[in-house]
Amino acid sequence: MLDRAELPGNPARAKGGAHLGYPRQVSCTRFLADSSLDYVARRLRFLGFDVETLPGAPLRQLFEAARRDGRTVITPSVRHPRRFARVPAVVVEREDVAAAVRAVAATHETAGPPFSRCALCNRVLETLPASAAAGSVPGEVIAAHEELRHCTGCGKWYWEGSHVDRVRMWFEQVLGPPAG
Ligand SMILES: [Zn+2]
Repeated sequence: MLDRAELPGNPARAKGGAHLGYPRQVSCTRFLADSSLDYVARRLRFLGFDVETLPGAPLRQLFEAARRDGRTVITPSVRHPRRFARVPAVVVEREDVAAAVRAVAATHETAGPPFSRCALCNRVLETLPASAAAGSVPGEVIAAHEELRHCTGCGKWYWEGSHVDRVRMWFEQVLGPPAG
């Protein structure tokens, strides 16, 4: 079902992307995105990246929180406050979602497989018997699946369907076809 092999492989090994002070030994990077990058954050979560956002936070506060939580900042701003010189950041273009996703995915490991996190709130999804979603999702969805994924944070349910297919196709366009 949500098989990693069906998705754009593991794009994290390629080179590219704009980095500032990226430490060498981070294996699984966790991110903190500028809230103007909400849409980019959602796409990255679909891919399996751990991306928190901090709504309305000015740049300084963003870097402060990233330092506290050991996260890498994703921001469209090229300004990197001197006080936070050691906090790594990826600078991306706000208007070009595809390029922004590529800049992160090309040089970082995901925290988990694609479609394993909630795109809205970043929580890791749990897998539950489809019957547990009765009353929350259409009956035909429950009938068609043994298991569904559920977000313990915001309560959203996820299943294979046209939306997942569209997201998957978008990733293929942006990152290339799945490896293997
Ligand atoms: Zn959620």
